[in-house]
Amino acid sequence: MDYLLKALVNDGNIRVYLTRTTDICNKAIEIHDLWPSAASVMGKTLTITLLMGAMLKDHEALTVKIDGNGPIGQIIADGNAHGEVRGYVSNPHIHFSRAGKLDDVTTIGYNGYIDVIKDLKLKEMYISTVPLQTGSLAKDFTHYFMESEQTPSLISLGVTIKEDNTAEICGGIIIQLMPGATEDDIVLIENQEKALGDMSNLLLRHERLEDLLEELFPGNYEILETMPVAFKCPCSKESFARGIATLGKVEITEIIEQDGKAEVVCHYCRSVYHFDKEELENIKENLQ
Ligand SMILES: [Zn+2]
Repeated sequence: MDYLLKALVNDGNIRVYLTRTTDICNKAIEIHDLWPSAASVMGKTLTITLLMGAMLKDHEALTVKIDGNGPIGQIIADGNAHGEVRGYVSNPHIHFSRAGKLDDVTTIGYNGYIDVIKDLKLKEMYISTVPLQTGSLAKDFTHYFMESEQTPSLISLGVTIKEDNTAEICGGIIIQLMPGATEDDIVLIENQEKALGDMSNLLLRHERLEDLLEELFPGNYEILETMPVAFKCPCSKESFARGIATLGKVEITEIIEQDGKAEVVCHYCRSVYHFDKEELENIKENLQ
């Protein structure tokens, strides 16, 4: 089962968020019919979005939007503080590999931006944008945290896709220096850089995230919380009815006259919602 673990390391000077997201990645593959490279990029984006969501407060939420002008197009993911995530990509049928490894950089491109939109339930959304530096998501999000949040971080993300086009493993870790961290803490993090190079392997070797944490920081941590994580889309017929209502009377009348019905597909979970003539008339009437 997918879950996420939060811990403090070295007397609270370092925080670690660690998650395994294999089921989430497989759910995304199934919903969107992702080919291996698209699955790798989507899996990693869903993972970092979950890790960042876990840093939010109760009712807050965030959207991560990545566009490197590569063949996959846009990669979008929404996450919240409760371990729920959903996402999609513009072009799911993408596959590039190089030397036997999935090639994220060619898939994403590196001429574009990462946007992080946080809904902190304030008057306005908090939006920060950083240029994509490399097309390697772990590196690019490390840069994001430094630029946008002034937080030195070490991030590693890993996905392995099997021959049958399902994920064998997916997950990631973010290690961050807390205010008050010392030179000792920086050294402790730097020492992990090599170990974290192959995240898939680390996750495959440890079924429990607790054991992975123990390998990285033997006896030098305090686990704060573990929580289940899942691919979840909160869409509903009601939410799409509200969407149709925003089209306005004239356009809804046009749909009724031309098609007599409407069919809406959720980008995130591919659920299809049908509206018949009567339902469309109702939506229109409620506008008056
Ligand atoms: Zn949906």
